[in-house]
Amino acid sequence: MANLCWCGQLATCRTSWTMNNPGRRFLGCPNYLDPTTNCNYFMWVDVELPNQWYQRRMYQLHVNLRDAQNELRNAQAELVQVQVSIGLCRFM
Ligand SMILES: [Zn+2]
Repeated sequence: MANLCWCGQLATCRTSWTMNNPGRRFLGCPNYLDPTTNCNYFMWVDVELPNQWYQRRMYQLHVNLRDAQNELRNAQAELVQVQVSIGLCRFM
């Protein structure tokens, strides 16, 4: 069964990455990025994590992954710069 938001549109499923609800899915208005059309519909899809240990652990794993992804992106950009500077990259 599809959930409609207060606008009558199909609610979109997203994932919370707050400290209190890391990895917890919820439904919301598809216009959430536009404050003039967002109807603020909100409904949890997943139950709460069983306790604070899980919340903290899940949040920390998320932060660690995000940081590692940022480091990888920076290292890849640096690699391209080095390749360009030594003439290995012909596309830039
Ligand atoms: Zn809406």
